[in-house]
Amino acid sequence: MQLRYNYRAYPDAAQRRALASAFGCARVVWNDCLRDRKEAHAAGLPYVKSAELSRLRITQAKRTQERAWLAEVSAVVLQQSLRDLDTAYKNFFDSLKGKRQGRKVSPPRYKSKKDTRQSIRLNTNAFSLQDDGTVYVAKVGGLKTKWSRRLPAAPTSLTVTKDSCGRYFLSFVVDTEPDILPEVETDAGIDLGLSAFAVLSDGRKIDSPRFLRRAEKKLKRLQRELSRKVKGSKNRAKARIKVARQHAKVADRRRDFHHKASTQIIRDSQAVYVEDLAVSGLGRTRLAKSVHDAGWSAFVGMLEYKAALHGRTFAKVDRAFPSSQVCSVCGFRDGPKPLHVRRWMCGECGTVHDRDHNAARNVLFEGRRIVAAGRAETLNACGAPVRRAHVPAQRVEAGSPRKGQTTQAGIPGL
Ligand SMILES: [Zn+2]
Repeated sequence: MQLRYNYRAYPDAAQRRALASAFGCARVVWNDCLRDRKEAHAAGLPYVKSAELSRLRITQAKRTQERAWLAEVSAVVLQQSLRDLDTAYKNFFDSLKGKRQGRKVSPPRYKSKKDTRQSIRLNTNAFSLQDDGTVYVAKVGGLKTKWSRRLPAAPTSLTVTKDSCGRYFLSFVVDTEPDILPEVETDAGIDLGLSAFAVLSDGRKIDSPRFLRRAEKKLKRLQRELSRKVKGSKNRAKARIKVARQHAKVADRRRDFHHKASTQIIRDSQAVYVEDLAVSGLGRTRLAKSVHDAGWSAFVGMLEYKAALHGRTFAKVDRAFPSSQVCSVCGFRDGPKPLHVRRWMCGECGTVHDRDHNAARNVLFEGRRIVAAGRAETLNACGAPVRRAHVPAQRVEAGSPRKGQTTQAGIPGL
């Protein structure tokens, strides 16, 4: 399976300039090619093939005066940018045709100099790991890198990114063998909530750590301050940088917390079940802010790939499943309960339930049922896996990064 490993890099001034022009060139190729395809589409012409775009927008463009600077960066960067655009289009078309699971993918967007995240992608022709610990990037040079953990194998590709607070990251894709953990007896249902971050079916509660809540509070304060500053003023620019730094801090800490919690849960349980949350649906309600802050989908994604990595079972329980309405002891369906109701008594058997704990137990039972049914079906279908958790390919940077999206980190402690 493919995993991403992220490291911080510290380019010197000349390297930062070289990277800036590489980011710019990759963006220009992306935008030029995207424009050609959009215009062809608008004119009712067929989809412009990549080979044609490569010739027109890369090879020939380098010979024109207005795009001559494309020749200053590695050709791999330009080709990869076009390939990423192809992937973004493929994802969009697959999503349109219903070939792709999950939420709808929007068509590729133009990239801007002002995007919070700038990136280039390289294959092994354009980067290499040096004996002195630097990472050589074609036409940029050897980047000083902080190796926070060991790469398990030779990487197959590299993404260099710069985030909104000016930090540089190297993200390697590595093919690794699953690291199967010894079997354990327990399985766990997880209810992701707003009062506690998560409640497990055995009654354990995982709260958001205090330092994370404190950092989030500070972020809110800084954002308020920013909104009060006069547009275009120097103070506003300063406040914006402060917000970006705090944003990065919160994102880093939250990701770190997610990694620790998900690793722990996967180590402790042979099977893990979570509710398939309609986060995009909830996001439109009043709860939006706290829902997105909690970063559930990132957390669920970590559980999913760590389960695959360590040989654990993982399943999502249908979001239509009424986990908070059903009594987990007798199965009586007690009707919907408003969010403020934290405890309730089953009208049938009289058990007093903690709302989240009850939901987690229901998720556990439903998850077990789904997996058992999946196994039965698997046997019927000549061994074709039916509802087995698929190994999520770690996110590849195709398509335009959405505003506010942060870089994805690797996996500590594996
Ligand atoms: Zn009951």
